[in-house]
Amino acid sequence: MTRKLTLALLMSTCLVASASAQNQPNPNQVAGKALLQAADAAIGAGKVKSFTITATGWMGYPGQQFATGDLPRSDLKSFTSTVDLASKSAKTEYVRVQGNNVARGGGAGFPVQGEVRFEEGVNGDIAWNTNAQGQATRTAADVAGDRQLMIWANPAGFIQAGLAANNAAATDRYFGRENKTVKVVAFSTKVCDGPQPQCTRRLTGEFNKDNMLERVITWVPDPVMGDKMVELRYSDYKDVGGGVKMPFRVHAHQGDHPLIPGGHNWLDLRASDIKINVANAANAVPDAVRSAAIPNNQRVVATKLADGVVHMGGGSHNSVAVEFKDYVVVIEGPLNNQRTNAVVAEVKKTFPNKPIRYVVNTHNHFDHLGGIRGYVAEGATVITDERNRNFYQRVVLAPQSRTLSPDRLSQRPFAPTGPGQLMVQGFTDQYTISDGNQTIELHHVEGLNHSDNMTIAYLPKSKIVVSADMGGPPPAGQNPPVNANAVVLYRNIQRLKLDVTTHVPIHGPSGPQAEFDRIVAPVAARTPQQGGGGE
Ligand SMILES: [Zn+2]
Ligand SMILES: [Zn+2]
Repeated sequence: MTRKLTLALLMSTCLVASASAQNQPNPNQVAGKALLQAADAAIGAGKVKSFTITATGWMGYPGQQFATGDLPRSDLKSFTSTVDLASKSAKTEYVRVQGNNVARGGGAGFPVQGEVRFEEGVNGDIAWNTNAQGQATRTAADVAGDRQLMIWANPAGFIQAGLAANNAAATDRYFGRENKTVKVVAFSTKVCDGPQPQCTRRLTGEFNKDNMLERVITWVPDPVMGDKMVELRYSDYKDVGGGVKMPFRVHAHQGDHPLIPGGHNWLDLRASDIKINVANAANAVPDAVRSAAIPNNQRVVATKLADGVVHMGGGSHNSVAVEFKDYVVVIEGPLNNQRTNAVVAEVKKTFPNKPIRYVVNTHNHFDHLGGIRGYVAEGATVITDERNRNFYQRVVLAPQSRTLSPDRLSQRPFAPTGPGQLMVQGFTDQYTISDGNQTIELHHVEGLNHSDNMTIAYLPKSKIVVSADMGGPPPAGQNPPVNANAVVLYRNIQRLKLDVTTHVPIHGPSGPQAEFDRIVAPVAARTPQQGGGGE
């Protein structure tokens, strides 16, 4: 009896001991809270309800490189951003000019002609862009999450969100190259109410010995790169009144990756003025945006161009499906997994019981390449310029972190043996797919400043050419301005002696080649050298 009682007492003592061990706070979380509180005291982060930053600098176009390497860049003639922490809203207005930046690569309106104004808004779960005429257009859902994330990635937002998070924890991070150890706080926070996991984002912040936030690293979902790293470096902290210090220099990268050489410079801002707790800081959602449907990429309109050749339109980027005896080839896998799923469904409806064996990729820009993973998951091989092989094989199609937006391919088992597939087929000048009846010729485009790896597809049987980002036939009877890319395309069609009747651009409507020639030939005749840029 006595022994039993002793044992029971011992056991209950153990229970008490283990219960109190569970109540012990996690030491990393204790350190995290202490560091955030010290950081709050250092810059007065908690006093900031809103702020407006006015700056100049430069901005890159992510995913629009001419070749492997840094992003194409434009100057920011002006940049104004107002952030309201309470309403989770922001309004960012900026004016791009080309400046002295090399006019090579792509991006909206690149190289910039004159001044191009942008206005971007976010409020909670809703994001929109406003054009020069003041018309606001709702963006796809993931843009809102990315924009809200940037609210929490600036120092005042980071410290407030970190203190509000129940998972902030501090650790040391040792950088061998500089032989230095920095204190790091990491936490995750919700950036939207939409589907998980995209709506929960992780942020890490590095603090110097004075508890000033020097660097924030976070991740955004990207169809090409998976969990894409965004890095923001803060420096030049100055007093902005009210006991608050803000960084007057921001330098940011987007898409740096251990297997891609060099940095990918995205944004550089030097502030001339920062005001805190400004009046009317909240950016209200325009009614037209709130009632607008959330755009998606799932609308596909199939139109027959010739026997066995079907145009898959209906969105911002077209694809062309070509039927061969035993399989189907799709020219271009743009945007993302969602677009690919929609186009693949339409291809299967159009050409039942034939596998999609190849997807042709016109060039390395992310909007034209973001859907290729879905085709590879479907069993297709990507045919692209040999210059892209390394990046596509080792980064785009490789198994790596895609926790924010898993897709079909990220759930596919890869193994060095077994029934896998050939993922990338590269070529240099020319490549032909043929079954003796149907043929696709792929040709490298020479002399283009938009991309060093641009491919056009020519179908000799139907006299169709498919091209990306180099213009197309104008709407009937119109004479739109002709850019340098179109001149390059015109010259390449001549150089290759392609007999073209129908011109099918990846962007915009198809039309007669004669119409393309009508507007481009006179410009080509008076344009001495080759070049180009464009979207
Ligand atoms: Zn492009
Ligand atoms: Zn494009």
